[in-house]
Amino acid sequence: MTFLCPYCRVPLNSAVDALDCSQCGRRFSTDGATPDFSEGHYYDSFSGPGELTPNAISGLEQEFAGTISRIREFYEPLLVRHGAKTVLDCGAGNGIGVDTLVDDGYDAWGLDLSALRKWQWQERKHRERLVVADAMRTPFPDGYFDVVLSSGVIEHIGVTEYRDPTYRVRPLPERDDLRRAFLRELMRVCRPEGHVYIDCPNGSFPIDFWHGTTVAEPRFHSWTEGFLPAFGEIRRLVRSIRSTAGVEAVSPFGRLRFRQSRARWFGRLLATPAEAFFQAMNHRPLRWLASSPFNPYLVVRIDVT
Ligand SMILES: [Zn+2]
Repeated sequence: MTFLCPYCRVPLNSAVDALDCSQCGRRFSTDGATPDFSEGHYYDSFSGPGELTPNAISGLEQEFAGTISRIREFYEPLLVRHGAKTVLDCGAGNGIGVDTLVDDGYDAWGLDLSALRKWQWQERKHRERLVVADAMRTPFPDGYFDVVLSSGVIEHIGVTEYRDPTYRVRPLPERDDLRRAFLRELMRVCRPEGHVYIDCPNGSFPIDFWHGTTVAEPRFHSWTEGFLPAFGEIRRLVRSIRSTAGVEAVSPFGRLRFRQSRARWFGRLLATPAEAFFQAMNHRPLRWLASSPFNPYLVVRIDVT
């Protein structure tokens, strides 16, 4: 992989612990193997492991199993079906997904803009494949990836989230422009005839199980909240970038394992019928449900043309 300057899109030159742009003169650190294109502008603030409470540490450890199942149980069968070799995990989080994909034979790369994640990546086997960068301005060449994955990212673009301590979220006036720029960048780095997968809680489903005041506490939200996108919103944004792109919702069967919600009575009550419902959604007569308000979690496949 030859990284490009995220600003000038010219190939960067290798220096000691850095990559240099001959055009704009910017220097990006590769200290500790992880290339960092953030110029210090992370979306979070993280001063070091000393600030993590025991609860926060156990929360980070509990993510590992879910990350591996997202890749192995849900996305790898799709990668096989598409014959994909090169994969980008945009919003790579703890980076375990990229380690898993590389171990399974893929040319996989990951991206995140978090100081906490950069610190976590020191533990990853393939940390040189994890890149700190803005998803709207990535260092990857045009059309490099057969498949681009982005889980739980799009909803956080163009909104301000509050925890005071109740969870609240407000859309910014430029929300749609920012989400369009994000989708355009994912489609740019995906090859023609490749696929971009966007997954997030469904904005047209009235309950959000994933963003709340505490973990796994369901949050009711209105259709006008402006946070979680509905299928039609994602399709409209994609088609405004490329009118010929295919946009289809697929069943989240296998994507959700209800690990967090099973800890609660309503999660145990709902998990089994929900899995049967998602499985039914995989088959033709009920496939329409995947984009409907009956589906709590959207997985949208964009066929790049
Ligand atoms: Zn440059």
